[in-house]
Amino acid sequence: MSVKLGLIAALIIVSARAATLHERFNAQQAYAYTAQIAAFGERWPGSPGHKKTEDLIHQVLQKDGARIEADDFTATTPRGPVMVHNVIGKFNVGTDPKQEILILAGHYDTLFQPGFIGANDGGSSTAILLAFADALAGQTMKMQIWLVWTDLEEAINSFTGDDGLYGSRHLAQKLAANGTRSRVRGFFLLDMIGDKQLGVARETESNRRLQDFMARAAGQLGYSQYFFQYEVGIIDDHVPFIRAGIPAVDVVDARYGRMGPTFDSMGEFHHANTDTMDKVSEHSLEVVGKTMLLTVELLDK
Ligand SMILES: [Zn+2]
Repeated sequence: MSVKLGLIAALIIVSARAATLHERFNAQQAYAYTAQIAAFGERWPGSPGHKKTEDLIHQVLQKDGARIEADDFTATTPRGPVMVHNVIGKFNVGTDPKQEILILAGHYDTLFQPGFIGANDGGSSTAILLAFADALAGQTMKMQIWLVWTDLEEAINSFTGDDGLYGSRHLAQKLAANGTRSRVRGFFLLDMIGDKQLGVARETESNRRLQDFMARAAGQLGYSQYFFQYEVGIIDDHVPFIRAGIPAVDVVDARYGRMGPTFDSMGEFHHANTDTMDKVSEHSLEVVGKTMLLTVELLDK
């Protein structure tokens, strides 16, 4: 009798407990956002699909009560001047001017390539950040959390010299110049994490200590097999932040489809017009989404 009553009491306590941040991650919604964004079509800066994506980001951030900031500038590119719009959504902004900041980022532009819709490359990262916004709405923690949608990550021609990473280079330099840099506890870049065959690389330039926090979170959730099973160095939006002295991690699945000499170095669907919704899975978004939000919880302690 008393055991039974105890169990009932325990069940009531469990059900009354508010959901933790990672429990608030809605993978179904993340998948729906990905499909919505992929359906916008090509999303290179200046395209109608890019504008629709930008509008969706603003709508969700407004709904979720974020403080929205724009980081707009004109980039000089091999294609001529291009308007670049980084979007920042700030959550849990306190009054302490020294409050620490954690950044979760991902690019929302797609390649300048006719017919390329980037369901995974551009779509999944944009969408998972929107689902993070929904999870962060109304939550209180120690750190300020910034969600950053970087723009013009993709190179106009190729990732050589100063082509590519336009938005992230601008923002990283800005944080270094205005003194915000010292408050940034970490920067996590999400890229191509919707892949059905999920395998997040241990990116070799990334901050090892922050990767260890991710590994701990993944272990607690039973997701270890999806993380850090191979090593690779990737040029991505985390690089300008590392160069600016900010600890940063590229959370990237660098093997998209079959690998081999006849395919792109990041797999058969990378930068191919076959990067479509049938390659994206809700489960992969769930694995990465919950792991990253539990990582936020662990870092907030
Ligand atoms: Zn790409």
